[in-house]
Amino acid sequence: MTLILKGNIISAEKYGELNIVENGYLVSNNGIIEGVFKTLPQEYQNNKIVDYGDKLIMQSFSDMHLHAPQYPMLGMGMDLPLLDWLNTYTFPVEANFKNTDFARKIYHELALKLIKNGTTRVAMFSSLHKEATLILMDELERAGICGYVGKVNMDRNGGIDLQEKTQESIDETIDWLKKSNFKHIKPIITPRFTPSCTNELMEALGKIIKEYNLPIQSHLSENTSEVSWVKELHPDCPEYFDTYVKYGMWNNKTLMAHCVHSSPRELKSMKDNGVYVVHCAASNQNLMSGYAQIKKMVDDGINVVLGSDIAGGDYLSMFDNVAATIRASKARNILDNWETGFLTVSQAYYLGTSAANKFFDEKPGFAKGNKLHCLILDDSKLVSARKLTIKERFERSIYNRQDDAIISVYSEGRKVL
Ligand SMILES: [Zn+2]
Repeated sequence: MTLILKGNIISAEKYGELNIVENGYLVSNNGIIEGVFKTLPQEYQNNKIVDYGDKLIMQSFSDMHLHAPQYPMLGMGMDLPLLDWLNTYTFPVEANFKNTDFARKIYHELALKLIKNGTTRVAMFSSLHKEATLILMDELERAGICGYVGKVNMDRNGGIDLQEKTQESIDETIDWLKKSNFKHIKPIITPRFTPSCTNELMEALGKIIKEYNLPIQSHLSENTSEVSWVKELHPDCPEYFDTYVKYGMWNNKTLMAHCVHSSPRELKSMKDNGVYVVHCAASNQNLMSGYAQIKKMVDDGINVVLGSDIAGGDYLSMFDNVAATIRASKARNILDNWETGFLTVSQAYYLGTSAANKFFDEKPGFAKGNKLHCLILDDSKLVSARKLTIKERFERSIYNRQDDAIISVYSEGRKVL
């Protein structure tokens, strides 16, 4: 079926450059984009047009790192650094997800909230609980979200309430994979982070990745105490990332959250192997992990995408997270004596949208052949002193989250809001 959306179309086809077509047409067929046109080609003249008038039609967001079971603790414990925050707040909250009714309630709400905020693709951590993970996948699927969810693996350093036995973790993972039959939500192998997983478990997960051909997500070099702890746990590994390389978890389907304290060697290896840095600006600041060299990483050719990292991050909206990314890059520039530069609005928007397309095997922007993922924004309630250009309206919308301004969302061509 042909779908034609009319309005002011904004996309990030190139890093740092916006493609703006005023009063244009975004055409898709069966959820696949055919093109963006200034005038509607003859062949589509007989199709019905959904006219959004003066509203903005933008690419929707990909949130490539967030923890679903931490949603009910959004904004809590923000005075603590990472490892204390995990033990005091996070692990006890995640332990509640052995209760499937509780999981259903929270995940239903989270899925709807994501769509309302214009996030249509995710790479998400669940908890270690298999049943709750399947519930999360089901709720995301029903809400119309696409992407990946991982049952978390952790067989050490989780405390009494949030830890699996090694064999149990392996068996539960295999059983979860067999039951993960969803059309738009796929499984991703998720060792929480190196301190949470024994060598034996990591080895088994490495084999599962190979056998089932699965992507991987985890955490890397987030905080200096964590980096030192990994060194203590793995005297055989020269650096943190070697603990993932060793078990076959280091390729162009690997998402590594944070990378605030990655060494030049670690970064080079990310580039050489196509590993993704998932930058979580809000979380890095809240937990005082540090300011990552994001602009430099992008300039050096490393794959960088964005994550809200709730609940280390305190906002689910990717509009807010794009703005936080820009602010963090400016703080980094100041710390670097104004020598490293900062991210512009269009550069940061690219990271929150198009950059993740590559992970989903697509081209940037509203390219022909991509699946249709977009949101319609009605920014008419924002007052202004003069008539603004489309680019100005776009930039202002990034910084001013407007609740209820997102009036429609399309995910893989389906109207989900
Ligand atoms: Zn995280």
